[in-house]
Amino acid sequence: MDDLVRELYQEVILDHYRHPRNYGRVENDVRSVLGDNPLCGDRIEVFAKVEDGRLAEIRFEGSGCAISTASASLMTEHLKGKSVEEALAMIQAFHDMVTEGVKSERLGPLQVFEGVRDYPSRIKCAVLAWHALKAAILEQSETVTTEADE
Ligand code: ZN
Repeated sequence: MDDLVRELYQEVILDHYRHPRNYGRVENDVRSVLGDNPLCGDRIEVFAKVEDGRLAEIRFEGSGCAISTASASLMTEHLKGKSVEEALAMIQAFHDMVTEGVKSERLGPLQVFEGVRDYPSRIKCAVLAWHALKAAILEQSETVTTEADE
């Protein structure tokens, strides 16, 4: 098991790693973006279907470490059904929390990832699926890599 997961000691992260929610492809009318984090070897593809300004469907597929997989799983669970504006605000809030420690009530259970901030090499694992989802919503690209990060 992953040292970081053990240290964070967050049952919710382990649970989502072992039993990812919303796992699998979406085939029709879907925007998909592959997130690549070569530093850790995480490759996660995010599928988003936007209907009437809402995220009608979000799923993901791929292979990653516990942090990247659990983050993707929790993201799909909590952003599904949200308006595009709210989803983008949550993506920004999540990014600000894991990179700068900015707390946000908006994130609810996703706040378990706050501790990742103390492990700089793992921040990219935590934000990978979120970057992919943002690119999918904004139709920016078909791949995102953490190495292109600021
Ligand atoms: Zn990783």
